[in-house]
Amino acid sequence: MSKVMTIGEILVEIMATRRGQTFREPGLLRGPYPSGAPAIFIDQVARLGQPAGIIGCVGDDDFGLLNIERLKRDGVDTSAIHVVKQATTGSAFVTYREDGERDFVFNIVNSACSNLNAGHVDAKVLKDCRHFHVMGSSLFSFRIIDTTKKAIEIVKAQGGAVSFDPNIRKEMLRIPEMRAALRFILELTDVFLPSGHEVTLLADAADEAGAVREILGLGVKEIVVKRGASGSTYFDATQRVDAEALPAHEVDPTGAGDCFGATFVTCRLQGHAPDRALRYANAAGAAAVSQVGPMEGTADFAALDALVAQSTQR
Ligand code: ATP
Ligand code: MG
Repeated sequence: MSKVMTIGEILVEIMATRRGQTFREPGLLRGPYPSGAPAIFIDQVARLGQPAGIIGCVGDDDFGLLNIERLKRDGVDTSAIHVVKQATTGSAFVTYREDGERDFVFNIVNSACSNLNAGHVDAKVLKDCRHFHVMGSSLFSFRIIDTTKKAIEIVKAQGGAVSFDPNIRKEMLRIPEMRAALRFILELTDVFLPSGHEVTLLADAADEAGAVREILGLGVKEIVVKRGASGSTYFDATQRVDAEALPAHEVDPTGAGDCFGATFVTCRLQGHAPDRALRYANAAGAAAVSQVGPMEGTADFAALDALVAQSTQR
């Protein structure tokens, strides 16, 4: 089976226990939970039985160990996770507003995560990799962008494919070189996985239909737009498929997009048609939002089948 690999931040997440809680006063917190968009993604891939690995850096501390142990337990190859001496594992502190929006305090740029460099990527590390996933959130420095490009080029040269989830902070796109680098990655992408508004982020077109046409025109083969509780839509050169979300009681939205993307990519690699892959991906998103903790809602096929069966009985 094709091995899926990704690169980027491995974090712990520590969250407020009460909606409306802020970090401007003391309050009860919950965590640490394993987190980081690429880490959640690759954990979900492994839960579906696909060979999976991640390239990243953690500190020489318990936050790093917590992540490595969870990823290993779930079947992820952790041999390309580097433990950086005297560095601290990245973290994210999260509060939830009354309207469901989240506010984050990140410690990523000054954490072990920023040690990632081109020396961590070579043909040996990427041996057997037939699918490489890029998370926009990981591309916070030119050094990491260059490292990611190197990985993409190696995987493409060995006949592999690339998926790209552009969960990029908008401020980053104001830097012209950053925008150019992200466009470069988009042009090498086979499967593009934006959420709602992100579909136009790297396109000239201002509306979804125009952006989809433009991006497919760049050579991107499949686009899947994530729409939160409204489900998702698949586009390729010949068709559009819409799929409703599964009913879910949302207790923590973090990680839904990562679990969704991982499940879509894995299902396609395992030969499922787009509509079936979309259904499973929606189920993975629903499972993710139903659990507190970004990586706590990753699910195997048995759990996804049960969710789909439950929703069709309603
Ligand atoms: P993230 O917040 O992790 O970046 P995202 O914005 O990339 O997520 P979303 O669109 O929020 O992605 O969620 C991905 C998928 O998860 C959706 O397409 C949907 O299938 C499922 N999902 C998300 N929220 C809900 C919900 N409240 N109920 C049911 N399914 C949901
Ligand atoms: Mg979301």
